[in-house]
Amino acid sequence: MSEHLYLIHYSSDIGLKGKNRGDFIKQLKRNLRRQLPLQQVREVWGRLLAWGPRPDLNLARVFGVAWWAVPREVPPRWEAIVEAGVALAREAVARRGVRTFAVRARRADKSFPKGTLAMERELGAAIVQATGLGVNLTRPDLTVRVEIIPGRAFVFTDAHQGFQGLPVGTAGKVLGLFSGGVDSLIAAWLMARRGASVELVHFHAFTAARYAHHDKAGHLAQALAAYIPGLKVHYVPYHLFQAATLDLPPREARYELVVFRRFMARLAARLARQRGAAAIFTGDSLAQVASQTMENLTAVDAGVDFPLFRPLIAFNKQEIIAWAERLKFYDLAKQPYKDCCSIISRNPATRARLEVVEAIEQRVGLEGVLEASLAEVETIAYPADDLPAWED
Ligand code: ATP
Ligand code: MG
Repeated sequence: MSEHLYLIHYSSDIGLKGKNRGDFIKQLKRNLRRQLPLQQVREVWGRLLAWGPRPDLNLARVFGVAWWAVPREVPPRWEAIVEAGVALAREAVARRGVRTFAVRARRADKSFPKGTLAMERELGAAIVQATGLGVNLTRPDLTVRVEIIPGRAFVFTDAHQGFQGLPVGTAGKVLGLFSGGVDSLIAAWLMARRGASVELVHFHAFTAARYAHHDKAGHLAQALAAYIPGLKVHYVPYHLFQAATLDLPPREARYELVVFRRFMARLAARLARQRGAAAIFTGDSLAQVASQTMENLTAVDAGVDFPLFRPLIAFNKQEIIAWAERLKFYDLAKQPYKDCCSIISRNPATRARLEVVEAIEQRVGLEGVLEASLAEVETIAYPADDLPAWED
């Protein structure tokens, strides 16, 4: 039974679109239905209306949503609107002990006989009279909102913020290098928020993908799938790489990190081509760790002939962690994990010299390692409807 009406405003990112805005809205409607048990999603006067089985669905999981509410719908007559506004204010007073309020009105229906200012004043006066609440227009405890579209009126007190952005599936496909750490997790979330269809590739230290899937990498992918419906992770074992680079002379062991980064990026680029993705991306941020010096980042770029994005390049670690905390990913993301990087030299080169890197790659036969590793890729899809309890 879908008996709760949702009033949904789409993002300013979508609002900025011109002739093709309809395509973005179509994808937003599709994602709302796919990611949540919403039905009859319709566009009405620059908003969306939808029906859900519960009043507490979390629409912030769908990029492109600016904010939403579960309003009370009343006939578009002023007395009915005042009655609903007063009733909602009374309920809020009883429930949460608010002391001050404001009224905000908007109308998409300019033929409605009252202007927004008059509505705000008159409904405000009625609420003061009925409840004794004080008016505070700058920091009210409670905001009573009225929205009028032709033939319909909505009154509500709680508006929930979404994450804005563009609907996943409107900006092309990208393949992210996902480590199971916090940076690449947030990089993937941010790319999806720009509307990209994100797939991930994860290099793991296990004997089969299912072990990584049942470990931290898979758990994080599952959490991300709340935002990226049907997220796919391509799991690649890196034991072949490890075996090939096992006995580098000590002088060259310092380069293993850069060689490994180039190996991952190249394999990802091949996979991206196979999957029809237009670019790959990482969670690198400039100078965060030894592998992310300018020299090492550019040495990776020099090793791939494919677009490589780094959405976090200028973010501070604290900012990245703040995102992860806000998304409730952080408790999971900070868990320890059997990380590839722990096996790699404790004293990595911070200034990679390309001649040395290329000589090592030649000698260990990196191309063959790449082909053999690609043959071992296992792909797992993460349905959005199979969500663990931390979603919110
Ligand atoms: P993260 O928090 O994403 O693990 P990091 O700060 O630990 O990043 P590095 O370990 O240097 O930094 O990794 C840099 C980037 O390389 C990661 O953000 C990710 O995109 C990619 N990467 C590292 N390890 C892996 C892996 N095992 N599989 C796939 N990609 C990886
Ligand atoms: Mg890491």
